[in-house]
Amino acid sequence: MTDYDSLILDFDGVLVTVLDSEARIEACCRVALEQLGTRDLSLSRETITTLAHSVSPERIDSLSEQLDTAPETLWQFRDDVLNTVLRDAARARTKRPFPDTAALSELTDVPVGIASNNQLRIVEYVLDEYEFADRFETVHAREPELASLVLKKPEPILLERVREDLGSSNPLYVGDKQKDIVAAQRAGMDVAFVRREHNRDRQLDYDPTYEIASLQELVPLFE
Ligand SMILES: [Mg+2]
Repeated sequence: MTDYDSLILDFDGVLVTVLDSEARIEACCRVALEQLGTRDLSLSRETITTLAHSVSPERIDSLSEQLDTAPETLWQFRDDVLNTVLRDAARARTKRPFPDTAALSELTDVPVGIASNNQLRIVEYVLDEYEFADRFETVHAREPELASLVLKKPEPILLERVREDLGSSNPLYVGDKQKDIVAAQRAGMDVAFVRREHNRDRQLDYDPTYEIASLQELVPLFE
């Protein structure tokens, strides 16, 4: 189905570059060790590394039991560390918009929103850093709290919220992970999977509506 009336974009890996996992973990460890000094928390490097990954609520619960620390405290620490790491990366230009985001300027009549599993404060910071925020009518992402994990894709909730804000009945969603495809399918949306350097070889168990190599390929879909 074409005749799309809006565009919903994932953030990391679609609009802006992602740090490679080694650099991200390294930065998380450095920032975490700095920030631990100001909090009543004692965490090993191994625990910090675990937290720096995309960690499940179940894993947080088991860590919390093991460390005798409230799960919420651990999670907020994790989100605060990533907040610092990713803001630093945006300022250092290692986290930056992909060049093909220029294609959005050819879609001036199309309402555009963002649905991200990242923290809202990080998404907004990066958009501001690149003076990019005006291009998006709405952004839905997470608050830095454990309760926000239920919103994460592959759940369709963030996509549905953006669709509602845009007053759209037939959006096209664009993501770079398999969970993006699943979230779009659950929300009843067509989905374009963008293949870039960081996900070039990723095998997919679900078929996206389109596979694209550049956001430029979205332009003809809206003509
Ligand atoms: Mg992504």
